[in-house]
This record gives sequence, C-alpha cells and structure tokens, in this order.
Amino acid sequence: MNAKRILIVEDEQPIREMVNFALTDAGFEVREAADARQAQASIAERLPDLILMDWMLPGLSGIDFARRLKREELTRELPIIMLTARAEEADKVQGLENGSDDYMTKPFSPRELVARIRAVLRRGGPAAEDELLRADGLSLDLASHRVNAGATLLDMGPTEYRLLEFFMSHPERVYSRSQLLDRVWGSNVYVEERTVDVHIRRLRKVLEPHGYDALIQTVRGAGYRFSTRA
Ligand code: CA
Repeated sequence: MNAKRILIVEDEQPIREMVNFALTDAGFEVREAADARQAQASIAERLPDLILMDWMLPGLSGIDFARRLKREELTRELPIIMLTARAEEADKVQGLENGSDDYMTKPFSPRELVARIRAVLRRGGPAAEDELLRADGLSLDLASHRVNAGATLLDMGPTEYRLLEFFMSHPERVYSRSQLLDRVWGSNVYVEERTVDVHIRRLRKVLEPHGYDALIQTVRGAGYRFSTRA
C-alpha cells in the first residue's frame, strides 16, 4: 500500500518540524507549506490525501483557505484537519461548519494527531458516522466532540474532553500521571503532574450529577483507570 500523503500548512517552523517528524515516523509521506500560497503550489503539483491546516496563517487565514479548497472541484473531497490555538467551543464549531473535517487544539500530542489523521482518512470525508464511544449511559461523539450522559449534553472544557476521550478509548487500563500527560497533553509540553489531578477533579465534577464520576477510578500508587466495573 502506498503511503498516504499529508500536507502540513503551518507558519511556525518548530511545529511544522515536530509534526513532520511524528507523521513520517508513523509512515506518512509529508510535505510542508508555510502559508496558503506555498500550499496551493504543493497541491497543484500533487494532490495530498489530507491537509493539516493551521488556523492562524500569515496572509490568507487557514479557515479562509479551507473554505476556498472546499469550493473547488479538485479539492472538495480533500479532508482537512484544522490546528487551532483557540480553545473556545464556538471557534471550533465555526471551523467544522466552514470547511474543515476535524480540528485539534494546540498543544496536542503527536500520537493523538496520528490517531486523528487515521480516523479522518478511514471515514474518507466529512460524512462521519457512528464514531461514538460508549460506557454505560455515557457517550462521546468523536466527530462533533459532544458528550452525553443519557440525553443530557455535558458541558466541559477542552482538556476535560481530551482526557475523557482518551479514557473512553483506553478503558480498563491504569495510566500514571506522567503517561496521561504524555498521551493527553503531549510529551513536548511542560506541565506539572498535579495538573492531571486538577483536570481529573473537574472532569469528575461534570460527570458527578449523572453518577458517572465513579467511572474514573483512582488507583492508589499507580494513577487512574477508566472502568465500568466497580
Ligand atoms: Ca500560525
């Protein structure tokens, strides 16, 4: 099988290099562009299988460029994952409505990025279906990033969402605080281990009124585990 081609459009060189390294390591064929103009030239030369697009680009913004690509015949079906530094939910929703197929908030871990790229490539476009993680009555929609307790939509911060997504996709396993930092925050980010506890506490608080806080279990001397068993 041929390697899938990924185009990174990002003006910050260190991020571009970090992403390039991680994706090449994961078996993708990677091309880099620092702005929309370079990206356009690269696309004209050879169509990638997916674009990783930074939101804030000099010149034409990532979101405007994504919209433009979605209007053009040649690039209409091309999946785009938006990279954003803005955490506000509204911005993300706007991104999804305006031409991107998914988004990731910086800082992200390379492993999470690779997993997201594979998921988007697998579903082959914006028509995501049944990308739902479930545990008892708790459900997490990977496409829309909505979390429901039964019929109730839960409101949580982006870090709590990422934590929960990680837990729900890796149930019944104990993760140490440093492993969680690496997998959820990213190994290139310096955060103290007690930050994990802070976000676990916030996540439990969101889940508590619905009785799902017990799914996030403290394993003494080891870390945390997501489990539907007592
Ligand atoms: Ca940027």
